Amino acid sequence: MKKNSTIFDYFTQYSLIVLLLIPISLTFKTAQAFQIQQQNVTKGTLSIEEISKKLTLADKYRRSNPTLFKEIIFEIAQQKNLPTELQQYLNLLYAYHLTFVGEYDVAEDKLKAVLHSNASSLLKFRANYALINIYMPAKNWQKGLEQVTKNINALPTIHNNEHYQNGLLITIIFYNQMGQYSLALNYIDLLAKRNLSDKNDCWLRQLTLEAKFNLHKLTSNAAELEDTIQKCTSANNKINANIVRIYKTKLFLQEDMPNKALSFILSYLEQIRLTQYPMLIAETVNVIAKAYWQLGDVDNTKVYTTEALAVNKNMTNLLQGVDTYFLLYQVAKKQQDFPLALRYFEKYAKIEKAHLEGEKAKHLAFQLAEHKSFEQKAKIELLNKENALLISEQALAKAKVTNVQLMMAILAVILVLFILWFGRLLKAHKRIKELAEYDALTGIYNRGHFTHVAQSALEHCKSTIQPLSLIMFDLDHFKKVNDTFGHACGDWALKATINACKHISRKNDIFARLGGEEFCLLLPSCNIDVAILRAEACRAAIEAITTAESGYEFSITASFGVTDVVRSGYNLEKLLADADSAAYVSKNSGRNRVTTFDVSQINESKN
Ligand code: GH3
Ligand code: MG
Ligand code: MG
Repeated sequence: MKKNSTIFDYFTQYSLIVLLLIPISLTFKTAQAFQIQQQNVTKGTLSIEEISKKLTLADKYRRSNPTLFKEIIFEIAQQKNLPTELQQYLNLLYAYHLTFVGEYDVAEDKLKAVLHSNASSLLKFRANYALINIYMPAKNWQKGLEQVTKNINALPTIHNNEHYQNGLLITIIFYNQMGQYSLALNYIDLLAKRNLSDKNDCWLRQLTLEAKFNLHKLTSNAAELEDTIQKCTSANNKINANIVRIYKTKLFLQEDMPNKALSFILSYLEQIRLTQYPMLIAETVNVIAKAYWQLGDVDNTKVYTTEALAVNKNMTNLLQGVDTYFLLYQVAKKQQDFPLALRYFEKYAKIEKAHLEGEKAKHLAFQLAEHKSFEQKAKIELLNKENALLISEQALAKAKVTNVQLMMAILAVILVLFILWFGRLLKAHKRIKELAEYDALTGIYNRGHFTHVAQSALEHCKSTIQPLSLIMFDLDHFKKVNDTFGHACGDWALKATINACKHISRKNDIFARLGGEEFCLLLPSCNIDVAILRAEACRAAIEAITTAESGYEFSITASFGVTDVVRSGYNLEKLLADADSAAYVSKNSGRNRVTTFDVSQINESKN
């Protein structure tokens, strides 16, 4: 970056005051400060704690003792392998020093290093506003504006009062410098709400007046002019007090009161000269020259204009230069020195052009920044819209997932209900089947189902030429059991009978209750001899039943009839009828016995 202004540039000096709060007299060094300096500038390797302490001390004295500040910074810069945090702190303070001596390029690099490091947010904030201090005197408005925007954005996160105020002050000065006085006033309002030191209060008031003056919102009799002069005087800030006096003088001139302007400002001329602050002196004598010109005092105009030109010879303040050359041109013309008048006019025209170009650059930078922020806003809006779209898409996808989940849940519920219903159906079906096939009391086949199963067994035995026998039995005097002990006891006796016979029956046997107290056992693949033995075993088992469990003592017996396919053929009805005949024989011959079907015997018994 080209350093195109001197350290005595009115505004550079001004912003440096904010940055470093450097006293105007740079030679200031008290005996006490010298002592601190002696204690704190040592040679050799320092511990991290020492370095940290020294940097904090340098930071503290950067305002009151720039010499000590510089020496500590240089000493720490010699130290090797600094921890990152301290290195960034040093970079910041070193950049302050570099800015002060006008080495803007190196200062900018150091400050950028801080900004790109993982330094604390406060350090970065300080680096940020220090960068504005570099771009402002260099008139790099575009970069300056970028930093100002970052600075403003970071403000809410800054809790350090001193740096918060400095950050705001720099912003206000920057906007004033750019000619954006209304914006400056906004930030002035913000800073005014803070608890300000007398010095900062004076600055803020002066900056307010600067903005208002340029916005033509002031008149020479405005009370705030005198108020500010008084505040700045008691804060021992003569420069700011006198800057305000210049505004007041200019206002007198604008209001066509050159006599008032002169009597006011001339009384402070000596004091202003004593400040040794060149740009302030140049501005003062320039305004005095203008007043004399308004009064028609050509000689005095020439005297003060010449002085203004001498002090502002580098044309650091272009606007003032424009005024000065125009006055000189007018004076020369009045004195009819036309060649001189032409020379001054040429100078005036040249410097006026430079000034206008400078103003144009500010304007362009501002418009560019506005355009950028507009573009950014548009981009952000677009992003927001895209975001909204994305969010609604996500919501839609989520809703879809929820719908699928809901559907699955409904299906699961339906499935469970179906399983339950099917289970119940199966159970009911089983129950119906049981009711249809089994005898409810004894749990063995009923007559209907027996007929069905027995038929199949018969067919199978017939086709495979296997034997098959049938046993039939009827409980003896069962009516008496019911009559004597009750129906329930009769039921118990029926069940006990079935249990006794089941114990001795085989897997293939088909056991059924034909009705009442009449039962039958179909024995597939079983010949008559085995069947007789089975019937006998069954009879014995029934006879052996003990009835105490029913609550009564009585005996249970049954009369048996046995037949097989050899005697009755593969015909169920015939088999049943013949077994029944045999059982009838058993009844007749004294009950509790087994009779095998025999045609002759049956006939005998019938007879
Ligand atoms: P017999 O020795 O001649 O066979 O005489 P019995 O009394 O056994 O013969 P009968 O046919 O006169 O009586 C049969 C009785 O069986 C009549 C009926 O009350 C009884 N009975 C039939 N079914 C049931 C039943 O499910 N429970 C009970 N408790 N009694 C039954
Ligand atoms: Mg009976
Ligand atoms: Mg009977």
